[in-house]
Amino acid sequence: MSAELDCDVLVVGAGVVGCAIARELSRHRLRCTLVEARADVGSATSKANTALLHTGFDAKPGSLEARLVRRGYELLSEHAPRVGIPWERVGALLVAWSDEQLTQFPAIIERAHANGYTAIQELSVGELYRREPRLGIGARGALLVPDEGIICPFTTPLAFASDAVSWGCRLLLDAPVTGLERAGDHWVAQLPGGRLRASWLINAAGLRSDELDRLAGHDRFTVTPRRGELIVYDKLAGGHVSHIILAVPTSTSKGVLVAPTVFGNVMVGPTAVDIEDKDDTGSTHEGLEYVLAETAKIVPGLADYEVTAVYVGLRAATEHSDYQLTVDAANGYACAGGIRSTGLSASLAIAEYVREGLAGAGLTLEQRQGLQPVSMPNLGERFCRPYTDGERIAADPAYGEIVCFCERVTLGEIRDALRAPVPARDADGLRRRTRAQMGRCQGFYCNARVTALLDELGAKL
Ligand SMILES: Cc1cc2nc3c(=O)[nH]c(=O)nc-3n(C[C@H](O)[C@H](O)[C@H](O)COP(=O)(O)OP(=O)(O)OC[C@H]3O[C@@H](n4cnc5c(N)ncnc54)[C@H](O)[C@@H]3O)c2cc1C
Repeated sequence: MSAELDCDVLVVGAGVVGCAIARELSRHRLRCTLVEARADVGSATSKANTALLHTGFDAKPGSLEARLVRRGYELLSEHAPRVGIPWERVGALLVAWSDEQLTQFPAIIERAHANGYTAIQELSVGELYRREPRLGIGARGALLVPDEGIICPFTTPLAFASDAVSWGCRLLLDAPVTGLERAGDHWVAQLPGGRLRASWLINAAGLRSDELDRLAGHDRFTVTPRRGELIVYDKLAGGHVSHIILAVPTSTSKGVLVAPTVFGNVMVGPTAVDIEDKDDTGSTHEGLEYVLAETAKIVPGLADYEVTAVYVGLRAATEHSDYQLTVDAANGYACAGGIRSTGLSASLAIAEYVREGLAGAGLTLEQRQGLQPVSMPNLGERFCRPYTDGERIAADPAYGEIVCFCERVTLGEIRDALRAPVPARDADGLRRRTRAQMGRCQGFYCNARVTALLDELGAKL
């Protein structure tokens, strides 16, 4: 970047929240810049979650989170199919494994109703096992939440960022904001390659949103990373559950869930342990032992299947129970921090909230006309993938040439990912855009070819 850049709005952090905000603002006649400390968008907490599109039935009634998850669900469930983000309304079953847990059902139903969600219903034990015959023995009853869904956590922030960039937003990667200064009616942000002047500053820095908030002159909250460890089972185990199997929450945790993924795997987790290091995304022996023990109880048959991957996500938990979402008109600053456990679901609503807040604070928003969203390549197992699409292969044989056999990723998809509006820049970025090397062999077979393609096609960017 050149020594000093100017923009109207600077969004710091390109997780799902920052990308959604940048997209929302880029619909207007504004010079918008999105900066990200890492090498890619959506590569921190937003890539390591349980990938559920929540209805918000269990949120704390009256909270901002409850309102925005509900609105986010409406917006994202409608937006996703339009742009090719895989999502499936598979429904959730909240299972009681003891009589004590069963007694909590009326309160859970009451909370759902208070949140405006009335489709929740109680199922008998017989009906539960009819729907999920592979569930472990001993379930005492269940609540059905028919609208809960599964979504692709990788495509979502990418789709938002792709729209923003194609609508004129400047995206700077490997660009951590290391200092902030208020100079008259502007912010001056310090970046590795120079300084960036902005009239408005939006903090969407996830785990580091407290640090950025302090750089902006506040002292309002502290982020304590809450580690969640998860296990992904092989696609051969894919038929083991057809709903999201939820636990009855305790005062400290939502418990371990078992869910199908849009990629055809089964996922189990997460744990919930507060830690100190915001970069500690390593898995632990105790965490995985705990998830395995819960798996053995909930869906014992999964133990016969291979584990494809384990991963860890860190929730941006704070001392407050709600989102840290504020707009400070006098200082041209908005904070969208501490978005702990539901940010994927609420992302579009958070963006809408920030946009309304900025408009209320005096930012002139003139909508651009004729903007079209970018169409994303489908990664979902239940939708048409290029290797099954005869017409597409006939038109371009690169879609018939498989490079990653575990995930059936073709040369055409890899080429497209390297030339997209927000292109893959390395193997990790390619994984999230195509699933190459994300299958059961984790790249053992295709790594050499993928690396060669990155060199060969990436160099032509
Ligand atoms: C285990 C787990 C399970 C979850 N399950 C779900 C779920 O099923 N459904 C759901 O809706 N939500 C879920 N969540 C929550 C969801 O993942 C988060 O709320 C969401 O990803 C937060 O997005 P974000 O953009 O705020 O943060 P992030 O994705 O962390 O993005 C913040 C970005 O800011 C960047 N950044 C930080 N500091 C700076 C700086 N100084 N300069 C430039 N860039 C900076 C970071 O590099 C990062 O990329 C889960 C979370 C976890 C951990």
